[in-house]
Amino acid sequence: MTLPDMHRAEPIPEGARAEIERLLQSGDLFRYTAASDAPVSLLEAEFAQMMGSRYALAVSSCSAALFLSLMALDLPDNARVMIPGFTFAAVPSSVVHANCQPVLCDVADNYRIDMTDFTAKLPTVDAVIISHMRGHTSDMDAIMALCDAADIPVIEDAAHSLGTLWHGRKIGTIGKIGCFSFQSYKMINAGEGGIMITDDADLIARAIIMSGAYEHNWKKHPNIAEACTRWQNKLPLYNLRLNNLSAALVRPQLAELPRRVADGLRNHDHVAEKLNASPFIDVPAPLPPETRAPDSIQFNMVGLDDATIRAFAAAAAAAGVKVQVFGQSTDNARAFWNWQFIKDLPELPKARKMLMSACDVRLPVHLSVSDLDTVSDILLDAVAAVTNAEAA
Ligand SMILES: *Cc1c(COP(=O)(O)O)cnc(C)c1O
Repeated sequence: MTLPDMHRAEPIPEGARAEIERLLQSGDLFRYTAASDAPVSLLEAEFAQMMGSRYALAVSSCSAALFLSLMALDLPDNARVMIPGFTFAAVPSSVVHANCQPVLCDVADNYRIDMTDFTAKLPTVDAVIISHMRGHTSDMDAIMALCDAADIPVIEDAAHSLGTLWHGRKIGTIGKIGCFSFQSYKMINAGEGGIMITDDADLIARAIIMSGAYEHNWKKHPNIAEACTRWQNKLPLYNLRLNNLSAALVRPQLAELPRRVADGLRNHDHVAEKLNASPFIDVPAPLPPETRAPDSIQFNMVGLDDATIRAFAAAAAAAGVKVQVFGQSTDNARAFWNWQFIKDLPELPKARKMLMSACDVRLPVHLSVSDLDTVSDILLDAVAAVTNAEAA
């Protein structure tokens, strides 16, 4: 078996080279220097068009987009913001950064928000961030119905969900604001970067100014003059802008997205079917309205104790496939008990149980079917080895 390279990203499309060379020649790297058509502005226009949103603002990361979204909502001091107990540590961090209190919601063993806990905690919060963690979409119908009825704004953390659909609608366009990442492990790779989308003029005006559109730089954002004039000089500048080189890396990748999404889903479903044949592995199904866009696979170990799960991960690693067991790797940034910067961390029994058995394996979209078979065989051999050892 020849092992695929599970960490190699796709090459950046050839189309980026000429534009990057032009930027290197001119030194025009700051988004607000050119009178018009700066790469960052063009990216915003193209991304908004692709998503069918009125406004887009490109920033330095998805975490920055989440922070600016909270700030743009103009929440009361110490506002309570509900987030899932299964997300990346940058999400509660963005809440703390915005002077708000994270309220953790329990998460079921299918990686999606536990709606009973969500419903119980909703009356105590001022805003909600839904992290579609690893692209797994929570029940957005139920979430939006509850939040709309209570007039609570929803920010979608779609960092790792670009291309996912819900009833055919693009994820990130369902809540009031959608935030996406261009960090290297996501569907579009600029090393770092993020973007937020919304149809709300006042929200985007506030976010534009706080992202660092000082003085009248907001005039380089289309169709937003009235709202930006209203907020002129009234908001702090956090300088979380994207630079032109990053935008030049992202723009030619937008056209690659449909292929990456299709290949990612094909890869995921191929491996899922093989793994689900094992009685010790469960790959949770998507919710019925959901069309996924995965570039990795998550599965739960069934009926195995912690030591056996660790032995499985070690056996797979020895054969060349890295398995991250979210709750069992030291200091994991996706295990809520490690977010010790939060005061009064709650216990989340369902999320804890899930994290102790949930495994994460990268499946870069460029893998071939034979690569996928190799990865599946290594995982199945590893589970067979540790369960036979247990039986013996
Ligand atoms: C990657 C990720 C983030 C953070 O994105 P950055 O662009 O690295 O700040 C936030 N939330 C989720 C669910 C992510 O996967």
